Amino acid sequence: MNALFNNYSRRPISLVEGKGTIVKDSNGKSYLDFTSGIAVLCLGHSHPLLVKALQEQSEKIWHTSNLFDSPSQVKLAETLVKDQHLSHAFFCNSGAEANEAAIKMARKHTGKNHIITFENSFHGRTFGAMSATGQEKIHKGFGPLVDKFTYLPFNDVESLKQSIDDSVAAIMLEVVQGEGGVNPISEDFAAAIHEICSNNDILLIIDEVQTGIGRTGTRFAFEQTELKPDLVTMAKGLGGGFPIAGVLGTSELYDTFSPGSHGTTYGGNPLGVAVSQTVLDIVFEDSFLEEINEKANYLVNKLKETLPEEQFTVRGKGLLIGIDCGNIEVAPYIGEFEDNGLLLCGAGPNVLRLLPPLNVSYEEIDQAVDILKNVLVKQVNVQI
Ligand code: PLP
Repeated sequence: MNALFNNYSRRPISLVEGKGTIVKDSNGKSYLDFTSGIAVLCLGHSHPLLVKALQEQSEKIWHTSNLFDSPSQVKLAETLVKDQHLSHAFFCNSGAEANEAAIKMARKHTGKNHIITFENSFHGRTFGAMSATGQEKIHKGFGPLVDKFTYLPFNDVESLKQSIDDSVAAIMLEVVQGEGGVNPISEDFAAAIHEICSNNDILLIIDEVQTGIGRTGTRFAFEQTELKPDLVTMAKGLGGGFPIAGVLGTSELYDTFSPGSHGTTYGGNPLGVAVSQTVLDIVFEDSFLEEINEKANYLVNKLKETLPEEQFTVRGKGLLIGIDCGNIEVAPYIGEFEDNGLLLCGAGPNVLRLLPPLNVSYEEIDQAVDILKNVLVKQVNVQI
């Protein structure tokens, strides 16, 4: 027992330094980091341009609050909405907080409270975001939830159609459910949602906390679908490791939050904004996004060639990849991967989640797949 609360099941490894995809622990052992701090380190550890942006900004001004004008926040917002149907941004500090803002905005704008979300979704741990999350285990023990969330089966068009009535303010979803098992939205489900939202007074909130900022090979994952969100939430990759989050919305929502109706002291802090601007200047380049897709195809093909398809299903989008191991529980093997120099996380009981930095090298991908193969053969006794 130490002086921290017991709310995380921590691996017994203390990571002390990192460069790109490689991290070292306090004993000097190196690992390939295919967790990226749970999809946060989109440019890997200590990217020189992010270090420079943070250092330079730290010598100018750290914090101003939102009492004052912020041209750097405006520039960041403009970068995020460029060539999008979205037009405005609000900055905050975490994915849950971004989702809180989107839920509040949807309620205030529509004057309605009922929000449809999906089973196995994950939207965060604050009361609103937790209540939006369609997983009982996340709710357990915390008493009454925020009212009026309905959890429907994901990718089930019929159940969605049957649940639509005048009370629905918004539909909220992840384009690829990350924590819930790396489950991508199906084309027909996306088309049905688009039709429902277009034909009814129902807002679409897309939670891009995990999928956004290039993770799936486009700036945002919704760009690969028919979906046209009114609100998009983001965090994780947005700061490449520096905590910053945000909400993007359409011009119709501009007046929904009048001054004083919503805010956060640290939101759009100059340090976070400086780092985030540098992240976006790199990740939103077409050539960088193309490379993500090339690497993702390479990794997925290699996994499919290596892992027998009777036992393993590889799915996801871009560099958010799940290996569904069927009836194999993955938690007991995470330590074996670590012993062999590969950091991975799970997504639900049977899915291994691969979240390498977006600038991972082909050589690092080859090494990671070799480790995966060796551990599965030696420890799990899979015939490969
Ligand atoms: N939404 C999604 C899709 C997430 O994956 C997460 C975190 O994993 C969150 C929201 C919550 O973000 P945060 O932990 O920054 O509050």
